[in-house]
Amino acid sequence: MTQHIPFQNSYARLPAAFFTHVAPEPVPAPALLALNDGLARDLGIDPQWLASPEGVAVLAGNAVATGSEPLAQVYAAHQFGGWVARLGDGRAVLLGEVASKAGLRDLVLKGSGRTAYSRNGDGRAWLGPVLREYLVSEWMHSVGVPTTRALAAVSTGARVQREQAYPGAILVRVASSHLRIGTFQYFAARGDFDSLEVLTDFALARHFPQAKGPLGLVISVVQAQAELIAKWMGLGFVHGVMNTDNMTISGETIDYGPCAFIDTYHPDAVYSSIDTQGRYAYSNQANVAGWNLAQLASSLVGIMAKTEEEAETAIAALTEVINSFAARYHLAWEHVFAAKLGIAQPKAGDKALAKELLDLMAAGQADFTNTFYALGAGGARDQFSDPAAFDLWEAKWRARIAQEADPLAVMRAANPAVIPRTHRIEQAIQAAVGGDMAPFERLRVAFETPFALSSDNRALAFPPTEDEVVARTFCG
Ligand code: AMP
Ligand code: MG
Ligand code: MG
Repeated sequence: MTQHIPFQNSYARLPAAFFTHVAPEPVPAPALLALNDGLARDLGIDPQWLASPEGVAVLAGNAVATGSEPLAQVYAAHQFGGWVARLGDGRAVLLGEVASKAGLRDLVLKGSGRTAYSRNGDGRAWLGPVLREYLVSEWMHSVGVPTTRALAAVSTGARVQREQAYPGAILVRVASSHLRIGTFQYFAARGDFDSLEVLTDFALARHFPQAKGPLGLVISVVQAQAELIAKWMGLGFVHGVMNTDNMTISGETIDYGPCAFIDTYHPDAVYSSIDTQGRYAYSNQANVAGWNLAQLASSLVGIMAKTEEEAETAIAALTEVINSFAARYHLAWEHVFAAKLGIAQPKAGDKALAKELLDLMAAGQADFTNTFYALGAGGARDQFSDPAAFDLWEAKWRARIAQEADPLAVMRAANPAVIPRTHRIEQAIQAAVGGDMAPFERLRVAFETPFALSSDNRALAFPPTEDEVVARTFCG
C-alpha cells in the first residue's frame, strides 16, 4: 500500500507506561468541512489526496493510514488547582509524527472516540468547539503566536449529546508535540523516575536540543512560556483553562476551549463559565503560568538528586529558575507592548507609558484591539469615553515615538486589525450547525491576513453590539 502520510512513530517507541494503543472509532458519514492546504504541503502531505475519500477516511478515523500507530497519551494535571493523578487523551488520538521543515509534528485526531482515559466522557467533539479551535489556532499562527495548528475539520454524521444534540466533528490537530507539564507530573507522582528520565531526554531532543538535563529543560520551558504569555497579553487573549495539562513543554498555545479575546478592555476579564473564581482571568495569566511552571520544576527533583543533600542543591537551583519567570515575563511584556506603541527597543519609561494607556483604556471602556490598531491608523481618541484624558497621554506618546525610526511599521506588525471576536465565532458556529459554512469560510480567509483591513473584512473589526455580546464561554 502507498504511504500517503510519511508517518514516524517516535512516541509509540517510548516505554509502554507512556500511552495505550487505541484505534479511532469509525463514524457513520465523514465529510470534509475544512482543509488547510498550505499546512498539508508543509508536512509533505498531498492536500488533494487528503480531500479524497481515502484521505477523509483517515482524517475521520474510519481508516488507519499506512505507517500510523495510533495511541492515546497519558498525563496528570492540576485542574483549577486540584490534583488529578491520571487524566490522558480522553478524546484524542495521536496518529504519529510527520517531519516538516521546522521539525517533527504530531498529527492528532481530536473527537475520534473513547480511549483508556475517557472516564465518563464520550470521546467526541461537536462542531462548535472544532470550528472554534480551527479558526482561533490558525489566527494565532497568522499573528505569530506559537500554537497548535489545524490541518482539517471533518463532520462525522453522528450526533453528540451536550446540553442538546449537536452535529459531531473531528479536528485534525498539528503540534510540535503534545508534551504537557501534566505529562511530567504523571510520572513524578508515581515515583517512576526511569520514565521521567526518558521523558526529559525526549523533550530536550524534540524541543531544546541545545539545553542539557532537567534544569536546562526547566530554564527553556520557563523562557518559552514567559514569551508566550506576554504575546497572549498583547492580543487581549484569555486562555480560560490554564490547567497544567493545557500548558505545553514546547511553549505552544494548546486547548482552545473556553478562550476569548477581550473586546472592551478590562484587566480582570474572565469569560469561561466554569472559572467562577477568576483563577484564569486576563490579569492573572502570568501568575498562573508561574505556578504551573513550579509544578514542572517540582516534578523533576526526583531525577536530579539521589541524596538529601543533592535534593537541597537541586531545589535551590530550580527555585532560582522559577523565580526568574517573573523577570523574564516582564521583559517579554515590555517588548510586546512597546511594539504595540511603535517602539522597536523599549527604554526606561516605556513600560509606564504602556501601563498608563491600559489604565486609560479600562477607565474609558476602550476596545482593546481597535485602540491599538487606531494608534497607527488614526482615530484612537474616539475609542475612549473620556477623550480628553487620552489627549494628554497621546502628547507624551507622540514625543516618545518621534525618537523612533519607523514607528508606523512597528505598530502595523504588532497590532492586528481583525481578531477572532467571540460573537463572530459564535455566529459562524450557529450558521455551520444550520449547514451554512460561508461565515466560517469568511473568517478563515480573513484570519490569514489579520493585520490588513480590506473592504471585505472591515465589518469583522467591529466590536459586538449590545445584542451580540457573548459574556460566557464553554469548554465544549
Ligand atoms: P480539557 O479541559 O479540554 O483540557 O480536558 C480535560 C480532560 O478531559 C482531558 O483528559 C480530556 O481528554 C478529557 N475530555 C474532555 N472532553 C472529553 C470527552 N468528550 N470525552 C472524553 N474525555 C474528554
Ligand atoms: Mg486539554
Ligand atoms: Mg479542552
